[in-house]
Amino acid sequence: MLPFARVTIIGLGLIGSSLARAIRETMPTVRVTGYDADAEVRLVARAIDLCDDITDTAGASVTDADLVVLCVPVRAMGAAAAEFVDDLPADAIVSDVGSCKADVLAQLSAALPGRTVIPAHPVAGTENSGPEAGFASLFRGRWCIVTPPADADPTAVERIAELWRRVGAEVDMMDPAHHDLVLAVTSHLPHLIAYTIVGTASDLESVTQSEVIKYSAGGFRDFTRIAASDPTMWRDVFLANKDAVLEMLQRFSEDLSALQRAIRWNDGDTLFNLFTRTRAIRRSIIEQGQDDPKPDFGRRH
Ligand code: NAP
Repeated sequence: MLPFARVTIIGLGLIGSSLARAIRETMPTVRVTGYDADAEVRLVARAIDLCDDITDTAGASVTDADLVVLCVPVRAMGAAAAEFVDDLPADAIVSDVGSCKADVLAQLSAALPGRTVIPAHPVAGTENSGPEAGFASLFRGRWCIVTPPADADPTAVERIAELWRRVGAEVDMMDPAHHDLVLAVTSHLPHLIAYTIVGTASDLESVTQSEVIKYSAGGFRDFTRIAASDPTMWRDVFLANKDAVLEMLQRFSEDLSALQRAIRWNDGDTLFNLFTRTRAIRRSIIEQGQDDPKPDFGRRH
């Protein structure tokens, strides 16, 4: 049986539009309604026939929904929920796709008192944004981490898990705080490092911008893909997951200092041993189907 019959998606960017497409492709009888605060985005969503219906207010989009999924930047979640709380049916479930979970759960619990809130995070994305950037297969073979509050109704949790399985994802359950720590190291810190390296390269005086671009295949270009990610989304992620990111950044800075010392003292063994360990991690990622073995980091051609 389908987990939901009438799904509303709030925020029709990369993730919201991918979810709309994936639901329509895998569960064609489910009615998908969409709303976005940006009138331009609503116009595009109508033009590309993204949903069965696009409404001009958040309230109108939820009136008969049995699931509402918030797909807006993480620090906009509470305000977006407050816009529709008065029109939300009593038995509807509210979920989201935000990249950090403890802060989002706190925002949604405050904005939707007494309502069923089951947050989730599909660990899938690209550096692009907007309704035209989405595609139906985005979640296929990727993980979706469901982070229910401690007292969540198990039936509601299972319905959310089933929705993500239906669109092709594998589902894991995690405590919100643990999710934030795991994602701080696997996603948030790598983005921060990429933003830093690309920023440093563009500020150099002794190496020109054109040299940086011309010789980028040496490794730099793979950082630029990550550093091209949406500025609003990532500003919000770092501020909403501040504690976990700062903890991981501290560890990273210590490890970086150790490498600096190894280079200064010609300690080749330390460098070689670390690079051997990290190569094994890359192999495990490929073995588990989370990336392509192609040397270009599995970009879509
Ligand atoms: P996106 O492409 O920028 O789309 C977000 C959309 O939400 C924009 O159209 C935005 O409108 C709209 N919006 C902002 N505030 C709103 C509000 N209060 N009510 C309704 N709509 C509102 O962003 P995205 O990449 O899809 O990210 C959405 C969420 O998914 C974020 O929480 C992010 O952390 C999470 N996520 C992202 C990725 C990824 O790789 N991108 C992966 C997993 C999870 P404007 O045009 O006005 O900004």
